[in-house]
Amino acid sequence: MARNQASNNRKPPIIFAPLIVLLWALVKIGQIEFLDEEERPQRGLAIQAYHPVRYRSSSAWQQKGRIEAVVMGGSIVGRSYLERLHALTGGPLPVLPPDTIDVEYEVLPVMIADGCTGGCTFCKFVDKLHFHTRDEKNVRAQIEGLRDMFGDDLINYNAVVLGQNDALAAGADAIDFAARLAYKELQIADSYHEGSSLFMFGGAHTLLEAPESLFATLNRLPFENIYINVGLESAHRPTLDELGKPQTGRDVRRAFRLLQRLNLEYEKLNISCNFLIGDDLPPEHTESVRALLASAETRMSKGTAFISPIEGQSTHRRTRTEFTKIKLAAKMPVYLYLVQRL
Ligand code: SF4
Repeated sequence: MARNQASNNRKPPIIFAPLIVLLWALVKIGQIEFLDEEERPQRGLAIQAYHPVRYRSSSAWQQKGRIEAVVMGGSIVGRSYLERLHALTGGPLPVLPPDTIDVEYEVLPVMIADGCTGGCTFCKFVDKLHFHTRDEKNVRAQIEGLRDMFGDDLINYNAVVLGQNDALAAGADAIDFAARLAYKELQIADSYHEGSSLFMFGGAHTLLEAPESLFATLNRLPFENIYINVGLESAHRPTLDELGKPQTGRDVRRAFRLLQRLNLEYEKLNISCNFLIGDDLPPEHTESVRALLASAETRMSKGTAFISPIEGQSTHRRTRTEFTKIKLAAKMPVYLYLVQRL
């Protein structure tokens, strides 16, 4: 069995998650194992950005055609595994939803759509012009391929990600078809781990324009938890303009209120939001995010805000300062998210 089955309940209390991750990293720092340079994995735990993995020159991790290694306590599968996975799904998942930290990023990916309807000019992750939903034949082939590829190892998984970056825009029928088929064929109910989770992204515009029936459909899926991450990025109009986001500050505030309501009204839904920080963004941007997250009437019991430093434009010092300002004022859990890929 490729993955550790020892942990019966792997979800830490979310409020302590950053502290646990930090302490865990400090403990594990002396236990880093080494990978060959050519086996450098494409994903791993967020803490890697601050404690880079080191690599060794001789190979020792090849087993039955699959390259495996352990990095700071989490499993990372190597290139041959990813190549097979990408051949099945038609390419990498450019970003993993940040909520997948709840299952230690151990997810089975199923692509139901390509591209994004958002068209934000700052985005480097997807084809922003050619959004299209995949047909049922394609989705079924992926899921059956995953079932055959993972085989007995399926028992270690209880979570599915629907890709790519705007899966919510695929609509109720496409999501319902893929989620129910994945739940059955990937034997999610038989997982060794407790609970079951479905993850996806949705653009702010997608959330605002979605019919109420979409959320009712999601709430009826067999998964116990349905996570949707929505990229709000800022509530400051000039910053949104600079990022090329199609939303105004008013749209972002409306989307924030909507996700609060949906989290309250639909038992299974857990909608989180994402904001950017970066050295070149103006102080008014941080203030807008801080004010928005402080605006909830009561402390929110569901929903999380993730703060993502813009890659290549965020120093550690500034990231810490801006993140702390936002977190201290927020009435919901706030975590740092460094982009993970699969
Ligand atoms: S909504 Fe998100 S994924 Fe889509 S173009 Fe904008 S930033 Fe990129």
